[in-house]
Amino acid sequence: MCQMNAPAARARLFVPDELAAGTSFQPSREQQHYLLNVMRCRDGDSVLVFNGRDGEWQAEVKRGGRRDCELMVRQETRRQASSPDLWLLFAPVKKARLDFIAQKASEMGCSRIWPVRTDHCQVSRVNDERMLANAIEAAEQTERLDIAEIMPFTGLAAALDACEADRHIIFCDETSAGAGEMNAVRVLTEAAPVAKAAIVIGPEGGFSEDERMMISGRQNSLKLSLGPRILRADTAAIAALACFQSVCGDWT
Ligand code: SAH
Repeated sequence: MCQMNAPAARARLFVPDELAAGTSFQPSREQQHYLLNVMRCRDGDSVLVFNGRDGEWQAEVKRGGRRDCELMVRQETRRQASSPDLWLLFAPVKKARLDFIAQKASEMGCSRIWPVRTDHCQVSRVNDERMLANAIEAAEQTERLDIAEIMPFTGLAAALDACEADRHIIFCDETSAGAGEMNAVRVLTEAAPVAKAAIVIGPEGGFSEDERMMISGRQNSLKLSLGPRILRADTAAIAALACFQSVCGDWT
């Protein structure tokens, strides 16, 4: 095992390579640095690797020089599984909060994270690569076996059009704040079971009236309240994900 302070944790890396017993590969420069200098792995130490397709595998560190190593794939530790079919459509916010949403939505088990352009959106560009890096880091840390798909920044109407007829649109509407009959858990419990969903979160400036009509007019649209306080968009996203996962998702 890697030498670390207790409790011992094993490095867990997302890699692009095919994983099968007996194969070996060189991880990326950053991953080699992480394994050798941060985790202080020695020759023969064991790490976990996954690629989002072939499950999770135990692999052995084969040190080359002082700064490089290979990984020899030994045995499968977990079979491939996928997260619930749960999308998060949200109006992007500024950098640090955007990182936060990508990380937390991944931790909460979203299968697709989709920044959408809305009428009162204050962001004009989104760095997809940075969002993906956040999603990968969260997957490594939370032990999920798949990586949330990061969609390119798209207009709200087009993203809604991409929702299939049987996907529930979970419209988080701050104007229903405090309305007991729209209580998130109650609405979701009445709708359950919900196999496919897209949670929709607006920008700091809120949705325009046209957008509110467009979202509520969709087939399978469920309007819900996340309580009497107006939450910031990132808080609202996590609160809605927690309600969904506990009533309809994989916390049940
Ligand atoms: N329009 C508001 C702020 C929007 S908050 C204003 O300017 O004061 C950003 C988004 O978070 C909202 O569009 C909504 O999708 C979600 N949200 C925040 N608080 C909520 C609540 N109590 N119930 C449901 N959704 C909420």
